Amino acid sequence: MKIGFIGLGIMGKPMAKNLLKAKYELCVYDIVPAAVEELGAAGAQTCKSVAEVAGQCPVIITMLPNSPHVKNVVLEKGGILENGKPGTLVVDMSSIAPAASKEMEAALAKKGMHMLDAPVSGGEPKAIDGTLAIMVGGTQEDFEKAVPLFKVMGGSYTLVGPIGSGNTCKLANQVIVALNIAALSEGLMLAKKAGTDPRKVFEAIKGGLAGSTVMNAKAPMMLAGNYKPGFRIDLHIKDLNNAIETGDTFGAALPLTKEIQEVLKQLSAEHEGGSDHSAIAKYYEKLCHQSLKED
Ligand code: NAD
Repeated sequence: MKIGFIGLGIMGKPMAKNLLKAKYELCVYDIVPAAVEELGAAGAQTCKSVAEVAGQCPVIITMLPNSPHVKNVVLEKGGILENGKPGTLVVDMSSIAPAASKEMEAALAKKGMHMLDAPVSGGEPKAIDGTLAIMVGGTQEDFEKAVPLFKVMGGSYTLVGPIGSGNTCKLANQVIVALNIAALSEGLMLAKKAGTDPRKVFEAIKGGLAGSTVMNAKAPMMLAGNYKPGFRIDLHIKDLNNAIETGDTFGAALPLTKEIQEVLKQLSAEHEGGSDHSAIAKYYEKLCHQSLKED
C-alpha cells in the first residue's frame, strides 16, 4: 500500500525516512524541491503536486506548519479533497486548531474519505529516533488502520477521542510546556540572584516533585546559554494562539497562557522567534540584569 507524505520539514523529513526504513512505499511532496529530492535519494517516489500524491495513495500523512497550510493541502483546488479516492485516510500530524481538523474531516466525509488528527510531541530528536508521543483524534476504526504507521514513528500513540481531540490534547501539552519553561526560568533566576548556584539547584531538585522532562531538557540549555532550536518560539506562539482561540470558544480561562504568550511575542519582536522556546529564560535575564549562563 502506498503512503503519501506531504510536508518534509524539521519533523516530516525524519518521520518519512523512518517509514522508508520500515519498508513502506512512500510518495512524497513539499513545496521545497530540495526536501523532496532528499527523500527521493532515500528511496521515496517523488511527486510534483498534492494532486499527484492524492491520486495514488489510500493513506496520506501531512506534517505542515499550521491550520491554513493543512486546509490549503486538503480543501483547496488541486488538493486531497478534489483528487483523493473515496476511502482515502488523511492522517494530519501537524499541530493545528481543533476546529480546523473538524472542518476538514466533515468536508472529506462528504466524499467518503476519512481523517485523523494526530499531532506529536517530542521534537526533532524523537522524530529521528521514531519515539514521538502521538495524540490522536478520530474513530477507533481509522485509528487501528494507522497504528502500524504510528508504531514506526512513535514511542506511544493514544486515541484521545473523536476528531479534533488530538489537537486539543496537543494544545493542553503546549500550555503545560510553556508554563513549565517559565517556572523553571523563574526558579533558576531566583537562585542565581540569591547567590546560589543554579546548576546545584537543578541537580538537587530534578529527582523531586519539581523535576520534569522539561526541566531535564531545558535547564542544561539555559545554563549553557544555548538556545538553538529544538522547538522555535514562533511555533509556540502559533500553538498558544490556537489554545487561546479554543479557550475563548469553549469558555476556558487561560490567564497564565495569555501572560506567557505576551512574553513569547516580546521575545519574537526582539528577533528571538527562531530561538528554542527555552529562550523564555532570556526574558528573565533582561528583567533581572543577570545571565543564567555558567562562566
Ligand atoms: P517546518 O516548517 O520545518 O516544516 C513544514 C514543511 O511544510 C516545510 O518543509 C514546508 O515547505 C512545507 N509546506 C508548507 N506549506 C506546504 C504546502 N502547501 N504543500 C506542501 N508542503 C508545504 O515545521 P516542523 O518543525 O516540521 O513542524 C511541522 C508541524 O509539527 C508544526 O505544526 C509544528 O508545530 C509541529 N511540531 C513541531 C515540533 C518541532 O520540534 N519542530 C515538535 C512537535 C510538533
